[in-house]
Amino acid sequence: MRLKLSSSVKYIKGIGPKRERIFKKAGINTVEDLLYYFPFRYEDRRKFHKISELVENEKSAIVGEVFSKNRIITPRRGFHIFQVVVSQNGEKLLCVWFNQPYLENVFWRGKKVVLFGTVKKNPSSSVKWKMENPEYEIIDLEESSFLMGRIIPVYERIYNISGKAIRKIIYNLINDIKDVYENLPESIRKKYNFPDRFISLKQIHSPSTDCSIEELNNFSSVHHRRVIFEELFLFELGLAYFREKTSQFNKGRMYTFTEKIESVWKKILPFELTEDQRKCLDEIKKDLLDSQPMRRLLQGEVGSGKTAIALLTSIFVMENGYQVAFMAPTEILAGQHFLRIKEILKDLPYRVLFLTGSTSRKEREKILKDLKEGRPSLVIGTHALFQKDVVYGNLGYVIIDEQHRFGVAQRTTLYLKGKKTDLLVMTATPIPRSLALTIYSDLDLSTMRELPRGRIPIKSHIIHEKNIDKLYSWIKEELRNGNQGYIVFPLIEESEKLDLKAAEIEYENLSMLFKDFKLGLIHGRLTTRERERIMRNFEKGEINLLVSTSIIEVGIDISNATFLVVENADRFGLAQLHQLRGRIGRGDKESHCFFVLPKKAGQEAKRRIEALIKTNDGFKIAEEDLILRGPGQAFGTAQWGHLNFRVADVVKDSGVLEIAKEEAFRVIKEKDFSSPELKRYIEELDRREKEVSFS
Ligand code: ADP
Ligand code: MG
Repeated sequence: MRLKLSSSVKYIKGIGPKRERIFKKAGINTVEDLLYYFPFRYEDRRKFHKISELVENEKSAIVGEVFSKNRIITPRRGFHIFQVVVSQNGEKLLCVWFNQPYLENVFWRGKKVVLFGTVKKNPSSSVKWKMENPEYEIIDLEESSFLMGRIIPVYERIYNISGKAIRKIIYNLINDIKDVYENLPESIRKKYNFPDRFISLKQIHSPSTDCSIEELNNFSSVHHRRVIFEELFLFELGLAYFREKTSQFNKGRMYTFTEKIESVWKKILPFELTEDQRKCLDEIKKDLLDSQPMRRLLQGEVGSGKTAIALLTSIFVMENGYQVAFMAPTEILAGQHFLRIKEILKDLPYRVLFLTGSTSRKEREKILKDLKEGRPSLVIGTHALFQKDVVYGNLGYVIIDEQHRFGVAQRTTLYLKGKKTDLLVMTATPIPRSLALTIYSDLDLSTMRELPRGRIPIKSHIIHEKNIDKLYSWIKEELRNGNQGYIVFPLIEESEKLDLKAAEIEYENLSMLFKDFKLGLIHGRLTTRERERIMRNFEKGEINLLVSTSIIEVGIDISNATFLVVENADRFGLAQLHQLRGRIGRGDKESHCFFVLPKKAGQEAKRRIEALIKTNDGFKIAEEDLILRGPGQAFGTAQWGHLNFRVADVVKDSGVLEIAKEEAFRVIKEKDFSSPELKRYIEELDRREKEVSFS
């Protein structure tokens, strides 16, 4: 069968049903996905050294044959030394590995082996040279041609598929595949001296001997640059294209801002708006009154009061006779928004609905019917708001809260949904303005840095694990005084089950420790109803101490909570910790945040958290986090997940991103779609738009 880019990985040589499952679990579904799984470094095996010509302290590569092996167990318990003598034309080299007993089953006499390491003198033996813990690779005869005399790509393992196995699969794949279609128009390839896509992909996986190893390892070879540019260019092209389209739409609604709206606003607000809130409210108001649909990002510090803006503007739209859909990333958050807003609007005639994945079928049918009829209403929920069968009779305004939960691909899809609806995307992940302007180049930007007045700044502390008892005594005192708080455990998505178990065990332990108080446990596996019940009990003060996985990170707002403990704080990103910290300090009492570091936490982790202690400014922290960790580092749905591209890194490649944006917007402005590459891509965008949009 001829492989196409869109073919399933299961058709690739070397991938059976088991590996197919593993690749798919890692998000590698197609040939194309695998071709974009790049080596993370390269090894120079162009030149091999003769043992007779080795020089002390030099990094060298050797090919030889396993001559003998032996193991030494030192008297110190368990210390394991494994030695192999490798021969090459009669010359010998000693290799030593420490505490890697499994190597005994890797090296067998007569096997051909490549070794890479620093050469040392071996004084006490007839064998003159040795290497300690060298990198090694046993070579099958059939592989030897592509593993020697060349630059060798090194891949990260995927679950239990070793990097070496992946290398073999990809090596075969690039030789099997006949062609890969081009994505960049010729004019751009010429302008930047970029090679063809197929050539670059081949070179990245199997570089020719004249490539610079430094450039390859920096991801800065012309082939890497080309592929990175391509990814960013196509992304920006999508944004530019839809932005341009949107600007041609007339939304066909004329709103008026009435005195009635003003008086409702006054009536429901228990506080004065901050300067920043007022400014952003004005910007949104102006957009709503405009004939073009709004496309706006509201970026706001944690706790800056974005929900109020969402609510006020929703009232504006309902008063003008239209429906509003307000989507949150989790059921907990959607639930909280719903309960709060319902309470605030209880004496007013607005219809507030709630729709999530766990809404019962009967209830759902009722809501769907209601939405279809098109009476003005505010419907709050999760992704369930935009399922295919949800039809809005009269949708005017879509609000998406905490956008950072959605990845790059999902994002464009979301923006496409309602062509003529006004769209407000809210996020508490402050990203540096220059980056925001490229990564959200399809949106206008509103920013709120200011916190409501009267907030007492949160005090942050690092706690070393060994002092945890002192912290627990402090917590008891705090709980006795009638305050509430959270203890958060990290969650890693790959093993949600194990994490859950960890949280459950901790919960039991804590329950015993704090037996005079009421504890609650909340995590992603609970049903919405259970979670809601717990959150409500917490809010009512019936739970004193809430043990949680990081799901409370987003948006939850309970003003009586005065402390938050993050266990294993080293496992979170800075921005994520800042978000967590934002769960407290919302009332008029002093709040404390404790970042607990385990013994094994490194200097690096400590430094990062110290940066967090010094400032409460989310924008500064975000900048720091992006630089320290990079967006690619984020695990699971952690903070920068939405900035993750397949190969590009928005921080390291910010220069390329800038250029890619300029080129993309130029192409769209000049309507220069004559090249077959662009024609195809634009068709694809149109197709995607048809798939997701609703009227
Ligand atoms: P975020 O921007 O993180 O989503 P929220 O909208 O949850 O923040 O608001 C945090 C808290 O601040 C809420 O309890 C809200 O009622 C309160 N709040 C919002 N705006 C103001 C204001 N101008 N003055 C006082 N409190 C405010
Ligand atoms: Mg919020």
